[in-house]
Amino acid sequence: MTNDRAEALRAMSDEAFRAELRGWLAATYPDAWRQDDLRPFRRLRGADWLAWVGMLNDAGWRCPAWPQAYGGLELTFRKQVIYQEEMERARTARLIDTGEVQLGPTLMIHGTEAQKAHYLPAIRRGEQVWCQGYSEPGAGSDLASLTTSAEQVGDVFRVRGQKIWTTHADEATHIFALVRTSREPRKQAGITFLLMEMSTPGITVRPIRNLAGEAEFCEVFFDDVETPVANALGPVGEGWTVAKALLGYERVWIGSPALARRALALSRQLLAARGGDAGLADRYAELAAELHDVGALYRQTCDAVAAAGEPGPEVSILKIVASELLQRITEFNVELAGEAAGLTGESRIGQVRTDIAWQYYMARPTTIFAGSNEVQKNILARAMLGLPTG
Ligand SMILES: Cc1cc2nc3c(=O)[nH]c(=O)nc-3n(C[C@H](O)[C@H](O)[C@H](O)COP(=O)(O)OP(=O)(O)OC[C@H]3O[C@@H](n4cnc5c(N)ncnc54)[C@H](O)[C@@H]3O)c2cc1C
Repeated sequence: MTNDRAEALRAMSDEAFRAELRGWLAATYPDAWRQDDLRPFRRLRGADWLAWVGMLNDAGWRCPAWPQAYGGLELTFRKQVIYQEEMERARTARLIDTGEVQLGPTLMIHGTEAQKAHYLPAIRRGEQVWCQGYSEPGAGSDLASLTTSAEQVGDVFRVRGQKIWTTHADEATHIFALVRTSREPRKQAGITFLLMEMSTPGITVRPIRNLAGEAEFCEVFFDDVETPVANALGPVGEGWTVAKALLGYERVWIGSPALARRALALSRQLLAARGGDAGLADRYAELAAELHDVGALYRQTCDAVAAAGEPGPEVSILKIVASELLQRITEFNVELAGEAAGLTGESRIGQVRTDIAWQYYMARPTTIFAGSNEVQKNILARAMLGLPTG
């Protein structure tokens, strides 16, 4: 992408920018990749993913938040919000964006010049697909308890241990992982942020199928995996500080009410298919009012982030309310579907073609990933209410 293109997008008014992106998506985005009503949260993967990233790059729409120096659009936060809204409006598929959204900005802060030159262009072009190796069987919310070790032998680390719930590790070419390089009295110390190629001998990936039948995440095993010491991102032993830089704007996007809106659109169709029922219509109205509130909170939070220049701890509220509302709506849809909710796979309820169980199951993890809702409440209690840490 040329800097001229990024400059032109930056110079546009917000309205002109929205119209430009909307027009391009309408003319270009293939129908076959659009999220359908059947399984609306499905991601684009494999060759389709690569083709879409290629289209975004060729047309100058890739990496809206990245600085121009790294080939991004360097959009204002307001324009990034519009970008998200238009993608959601056009029902573009969810992407595997761990490299772009999580690792890229961290590399920009903590990477050496050589690391930035090696990784950033490849992430932008879609040649490298990254996954995040943090969680372990014994370390999730309490991440600093992680035990995957990396012993330094000459100029390599020898990595041993296991990660779990690693989203799309089976498609990733690379993994960034938190590993323990020394034992210190404070468990957050002695952790190193390590970049590894998935093709390195000793790495084994085992996909985990979730209740909805999707293989969204994996177990990743490290059996004496040798990685150059030069692949540490940031200082050895200070990976905890490096990892904290990852908590950026993506906390805002996961609070978007888009999925809840799609789920409620299905409630409306199911309600119509069942015929009049005042009790159910009342509950639909309650959920619609809640969705309106979450939408208002999302817009208000986006405005606050745009004004402050960075997200504050209050974005945790969005994650909690958006994910809990999505779950309540999918539960309501199960009730509306009646006996059809017991079927797995595609079913028809009147004229409505859907997969109720899939949507119900896929809404379950939203209160767990990216920091469980209980952990988000702890953050709010400490940072916003000033309550003591327990
Ligand atoms: C769909 C999905 C994708 C994921 N993708 C990735 C990924 O790509 N990479 C990765 O590294 N991880 C990933 N994870 C893992 C995720 O980060 C963890 O599941 C999450 O951090 C919770 O950890 P845990 O599963 O070990 O549960 P635990 O930490 O054992 O928590 C169990 C329960 O206890 C509660 N709890 C724990 N501690 C506290 C506390 N201090 N106060 C109050 N309640 C508490 C939790 O809220 C939860 O309800 C993914 C998870 C899911 C569901």
